[in-house]
Amino acid sequence: MPLVSTRQLLDEAAKGGYGVGAFNVNDMEQIQAIMEAAKETNSPVIIQASRGARAFAQDNYLYHLMLAAAELYPQIPLAMHLDHGNSYETCVSAIQLGFTSVMMDGSLKPDGKTPASFEENVEVTKKVVDYAHERGIAVEGEIGVLGGIEDGHGAGGSGLDHVTDPDQAVEFAERTGVDSLAIAIGTSHGAYKFTKKPDGSVLKMDLLIKIHNRLPKTHLVMHGSSSVPKDLQDIINQYGGKLKETWGVPVEEIQLGIKNGVRKVNVDTDNRLAITGAIRKVFVETPEKFDPRDYLKPARAAMQKVVALRMTQFGQAGHAGDYQAISIADMAKGYANGTLSTKPLVAAK
Ligand SMILES: [Zn+2]
Repeated sequence: MPLVSTRQLLDEAAKGGYGVGAFNVNDMEQIQAIMEAAKETNSPVIIQASRGARAFAQDNYLYHLMLAAAELYPQIPLAMHLDHGNSYETCVSAIQLGFTSVMMDGSLKPDGKTPASFEENVEVTKKVVDYAHERGIAVEGEIGVLGGIEDGHGAGGSGLDHVTDPDQAVEFAERTGVDSLAIAIGTSHGAYKFTKKPDGSVLKMDLLIKIHNRLPKTHLVMHGSSSVPKDLQDIINQYGGKLKETWGVPVEEIQLGIKNGVRKVNVDTDNRLAITGAIRKVFVETPEKFDPRDYLKPARAAMQKVVALRMTQFGQAGHAGDYQAISIADMAKGYANGTLSTKPLVAAK
């Protein structure tokens, strides 16, 4: 299948009542792990790259690796998404390269650190939406600010500093016409999300449900949604790592989110943990080895295992064959003639 729009994947996920994992990549092995997991579970999938990934791998490498994935797995609906675009220019450059959706994170100023005002966020996001939709590309916006820092991006601090206000979410969706909306409900980027198993005082699932009730047809996005499972932490520490004890977002909370409008779930840390644990194990158990394939193969397999498990848990497994690709050109026509709605359905309080 050619690279498809994330909007099509999320519209189909809404019809089917499931969520789609969006997995971050920096290199070939991660892309291979995700695609093998998608094949194994027959899942549509979103592969995303941050600005940090684009700087690490270079745009052309990333793009052509994605094209290779689309060629090698014609049965898998695959979208290529820009994670946390920090400015209009970053989003435009991703679209010109061939990304099929972008996130304009206008919750922060272009420095990727300072929280922006609501009006600034609306203005830059709307500008990206106008540019993107004309070209058939989907846009994710963010309202409220995630905690933590990843790849140099983030406001830092707790995920509770700037949680999403439901009224602002409604106004933001109406004024920008975004295809999907990332919300802040207490989650953070990175491995250190919570200091104990999160309860409702730190992970605001009630707020997510409130936002979903006001915007019942809007595709919601959960960021910072790695589960940081203890077994993956343990492998790293068993083989010489020094991770401090930490908790992520429990899978059952993500599943509750999926029942309440969450269609895209961002996962990065869990895969990083799986890769690092597998590599450490090889280094410690067989220190005589020096062929990178000796540790990259198990690293790739460990990541595939985590991704396949998440695909099953999010419900996207089994849905790859549900639909045919809509071309990006036809997506552009859909935005222009209104068959692809950009006006959210808003329910009364
Ligand atoms: Zn994020």
